[in-house]
Amino acid sequence: IRWNREQGWHDAEVGPYSTLALDPAAMVLHYGQAIFEGLKAYRQPDGSIASFRPEANAERFRASARRMAMPELPDELFLESVRQLLAVDDRWVPSAQEESLYLRPFMISTEKGLGVRPSSEYLYVLIASPAGSYFASGVRPVSVWLSTEYVRAAPGGTGAAKFAGNYAASLVAQAQAAEKGCDQVVWLDAVERRWVEEMGGMNLFFVFGDKVVTPELTGTLLPGITRSSLLRLASDLGLTVEERRISTDEWEKANASGELTEVFACGTAAVITPVGHVKHAGGEFSIGDGGTGSVTMKLRERLTGLQHGHVADTHGWMTVLG
Ligand code: PMP
Repeated sequence: IRWNREQGWHDAEVGPYSTLALDPAAMVLHYGQAIFEGLKAYRQPDGSIASFRPEANAERFRASARRMAMPELPDELFLESVRQLLAVDDRWVPSAQEESLYLRPFMISTEKGLGVRPSSEYLYVLIASPAGSYFASGVRPVSVWLSTEYVRAAPGGTGAAKFAGNYAASLVAQAQAAEKGCDQVVWLDAVERRWVEEMGGMNLFFVFGDKVVTPELTGTLLPGITRSSLLRLASDLGLTVEERRISTDEWEKANASGELTEVFACGTAAVITPVGHVKHAGGEFSIGDGGTGSVTMKLRERLTGLQHGHVADTHGWMTVLG
């Protein structure tokens, strides 16, 4: 679907997967107005296809657009694009547990121009790719590197938007984490470099017995849809939930005293991933026995059960789109 100032959203079309033609002076190539979303379509036991809270993705896509001075795609067009894609060919939506069709909506600026200003033309595109189980051999705890050198987001910056540049800026830190022998990078706040924010492209949760704590949304974190859903599911399961700041110091001390029992990360792509080991410039430690905790597994089962239609959808989170 295209947008320009005169016509607004227009020229919606569905077609075979193909390359995009862009002018070399297309503004996205120079000034980076590019936002995206990530959601999944799941085959339901009755054969229909449903997505998990796609309305929340549509709303976050509009919030990202506002932050990048881009036009907002109406939620109904966002949802309709998914319906149309699934209507063309739904054979790619698998039925196995843990498998899904990953949907990637994105928007870029297409006007040609070499001056820095908001573009007056944009292109919205939706592509899709089948997603297998994230863990080939069961859920495996990851090791993380606490990054004090690089930050993902600064106050007043773009951290709360699903903006392409955030991911480009994170690659060097991810490479550093790999050099340190870790699977993932944990982002800290930009000012004091001690408040935990996120892990790679996922939100973090800390389990203290029957209390679940996640960093509060300060404007520098991406407001994850899995994060907000797990806060509800955790209270459904009788756990106490807290959104507050948590420091790397508290993390290490509560772990040493045994108060902190589990840590996991969550997001659309990785669902729920346990964190088993932590490294930082001053040392390293394991969480519990380095394995996957029972609260992590319970939440994971509840969430995936809901998404695949095996657990009653009491919150009305599943939207049938095909
Ligand atoms: N944080 C970042 C930086 C992300 O890219 C993602 C993935 N969209 C998340 C958190 C998790 O968000 P969600 O649960 O909506 O997938």
